[in-house]
Amino acid sequence: MVNLILFGPPGSGKGTQAAKLVEKYNLLHISTGDLFRYEIKNKTELGLKAKSIIDKGELVPDEITVGMLRNKVEANPDVEGYIFDGFPRTVPQCEALNQLLSENSEEVTLLLELEVEDEEIVNRLLLRAETSGRADDANEDIIKNRLEVYKSETIPVSDFYDKLGKTIRVHGQGSIDQVFERLSNEIDSTILC
Ligand code: ADP
Repeated sequence: MVNLILFGPPGSGKGTQAAKLVEKYNLLHISTGDLFRYEIKNKTELGLKAKSIIDKGELVPDEITVGMLRNKVEANPDVEGYIFDGFPRTVPQCEALNQLLSENSEEVTLLLELEVEDEEIVNRLLLRAETSGRADDANEDIIKNRLEVYKSETIPVSDFYDKLGKTIRVHGQGSIDQVFERLSNEIDSTILC
C-alpha cells in the first residue's frame, strides 16, 4: 500500500492536489475537513460539536477527530492506499495514525508538505470564501488564527515524520499542474525505488 499524508497550511492546495493524485495513483482520499463538513451538513451530534470549534479556526479535539478518521479507514479496507488530507494535525494524531496503520502491518509512506507564503494564503482563502460559503474562510482574523494554530500545533507533525526520513517539502506556488508535477515526481521516486 501507498499511504500519503498531504500536508501544508490552510489554503495550500491540499484538496485540489489530492483530487488529482487519487486519479493517478488510485488511492482513497480522506479529508478530515470534508468529513467534518459532511457531519455539520447532516446536523449529527459530532457535527454540532465540531461546528463552533471550526468556525473559530480552532482544532477539533484529537479524540473526536481520531475516532472519525478510524471509522472512515475501517469502512474502506480494500483500497490500494490512502491520501490523508488535513490529518494528522497534531503529534498525538500522528501517534494514533501509526497505531491504526500498524494494526494492518502498514505505515506512512511519505509526508508531502506544500510550502506557501502567508500572504498568498490569506488571499487564496478570502477568494475561496466567495464560493465556498465557509465561515472560517470569510474573516481575516479567523484565517490568521488558523495560521497561528498551524504553526504551533501542526508544524510539529512535519518534524515528526522528518525525523523518520519521510517528509518531503515541495514548493506550493505556481500553476496547479506545476505543483502536481512536483508532487508526482517525489512520489514516483519514492515508490519506484
Ligand atoms: P484547511 O486545510 O483549509 O484549514 P480543512 O478543511 O482541512 O481546512 O479543515 C477545516 C477545519 O476542520 C480546521 O480548521 C479544523 O477546525 C477542523 N479540522 C480538520 N481536520 C482536523 C484535524 N485533523 N484535527 C482537528 N481539527 C481538524
